[in-house]
Amino acid sequence: MAIEKAFKNFLQEKFPFKVQKISINAGFTCPNRDGTKGLGGCTYCNNQTFSPQYAANHKSVTQQLEEGIRFFSRKYPEIKYIAYFQAYTNTYGETGSLLKKYNEALAYPGVVGLIIGTRPDCMPDELLDKLEKIDRRSFLLIEYGVESTDNNTLQLINRGHTYEEAIETIQRTAQRGIYTGVHLILGLPGETRETILSHAHKISLLPLTTVKLHQLQLIQNTEMARQYKENPEIFHFYTADEYVDLCIDFMERLNPDFSLERFVSQSPKELLIAPDWGLKNYEFTEKIKKRMKERHLL
Ligand code: SF4
Repeated sequence: MAIEKAFKNFLQEKFPFKVQKISINAGFTCPNRDGTKGLGGCTYCNNQTFSPQYAANHKSVTQQLEEGIRFFSRKYPEIKYIAYFQAYTNTYGETGSLLKKYNEALAYPGVVGLIIGTRPDCMPDELLDKLEKIDRRSFLLIEYGVESTDNNTLQLINRGHTYEEAIETIQRTAQRGIYTGVHLILGLPGETRETILSHAHKISLLPLTTVKLHQLQLIQNTEMARQYKENPEIFHFYTADEYVDLCIDFMERLNPDFSLERFVSQSPKELLIAPDWGLKNYEFTEKIKKRMKERHLL
């Protein structure tokens, strides 16, 4: 089962030392907010929620790495780092300026690789050519926000791309030998348990390395919060225990070669409307392991 091939193990296979991701906000914008793909962004998105304090966009990549690394290097002097370009769409920009930022991160002492989070409709071949070169000399993982494999859902949440576009970009990326990951949100409005579990079957056919899951979180000041007020019946907020079973069922259907990076995400409490489980990522993983034992799967 995929939990045995967790992301931590994947990194351990790649590196003979401990590595830590450092989140970077490189000041990119998003084509689904500025009108290129859409306006207003994805209905669930309030970008404040996935950018740690130190990733403030007025700071340079070097400055952000310096601050992030200072925190970890005191505790673990031997540790190395992966620069995680996380906020907004980190391949949205002119190729030269994107490369300048990636290379700035790779030049920082102790940085051994990059993870670049982006949208599937934002990866031109010209940039992939350059990323392929980076991949030959450094660790590189491109993480695509796919969110759902159902085009009706993608439309409802205003993603601005289809699942077919995601498949095409994932294939183009993986064909170049670049590690390719996806991010999915489990529990989007209108999706039944069966729809959610069908995502596992569908993505299992793709040439992926990693999968990151998280529960639907309703965040203040988002379009989705407004939709929820108008149509609460299309939403189902899972309890933590329900979500544990959902994740296990999902894993059972998932290609066992994929490394599963996480199951949950925690938005800042002051922005979160629901569900408020109060569980940290590692606490949730423990709950999954406990439940798998109960279900005789571990
Ligand atoms: S979730 Fe990502 S793609 Fe969607 S609006 Fe927010 S930054 Fe843009």
